[in-house]
Amino acid sequence: MKIIMLGAPGAGKGTQAKQIADKYSIPHISTGDIFRANIKNGTALGEKAKQYMDQGLLVPDELTCDLVMDRIQQDDCKNGFVLDGFPRTIPQAQALDAALEKIGQSLDYEIDVDVPDENIVNRMSGRRACLSCGATYHVVSIPTKVEGICDRCGSEVVLRDDDKPETVQKRLTVYHEQTQPLIDYYKKQNILKSVDGTQPMEAVFEAITQILGA
Ligand code: ADP
Ligand code: ADP
Ligand code: ZN
Repeated sequence: MKIIMLGAPGAGKGTQAKQIADKYSIPHISTGDIFRANIKNGTALGEKAKQYMDQGLLVPDELTCDLVMDRIQQDDCKNGFVLDGFPRTIPQAQALDAALEKIGQSLDYEIDVDVPDENIVNRMSGRRACLSCGATYHVVSIPTKVEGICDRCGSEVVLRDDDKPETVQKRLTVYHEQTQPLIDYYKKQNILKSVDGTQPMEAVFEAITQILGA
């Protein structure tokens, strides 16, 4: 099952993608997590990506596409994957389609997690992220069991630099300009499914499993 998740920054793509990955035993591939891991490890890619991420801008397609194409060709993706945060531009979507077509495959589902802008700033300012394992929490709606500590791996959870309100506003603008056009792109392929992301996390997941099948 090859799935991509679309939605504004903070819509809940990552939260849902992790649960999908667990339930259907497919890898969760988050480009944001890959970039953050590179930044943490001080790689050349991380250094380049950070310049864009800190400003709320997208990392250029030429730095992003090859990385994802390599990743989805690894052995653990044989039965599918859930891509979270990729594609984010039309050229990225075209690159993904072309890569899959080459191996006689295509995407199965494109799930759009729909949350209006007015809910997003609150979601982001309350988001706490574990930079070690990629888990995300929310101080009010999805808190860690112990304040400030990741339930999954015991590391510290932090407010991401790019989750501060000024940067979130910029990321939303970028989303509307560069990523939202993908909704029409996938509508034309008849694989787009929309879920109401303003519901509680469990209800959103229920709506997604209805789409994917048990
Ligand atoms: P969000 O919470 O907004 O979904 P992500 O963790 O997916 O955040 O991404 C964080 C940042 O990493 C983005 O704002 C962008 O700078 C960069 N990034 C992640 N995925 C992509 C992509 N597919 N193309 C370009 N930039 C990306
Ligand atoms: P994205 O990957 O789309 O950027 P996340 O999955 O990281 O979004 O979620 C953004 C923030 O909102 C996190 O703090 C997360 O814990 C919280 N969150 C996710 N889903 C819900 C939900 N259904 N209701 C309330 N808060 C949520
Ligand atoms: Zn963790």
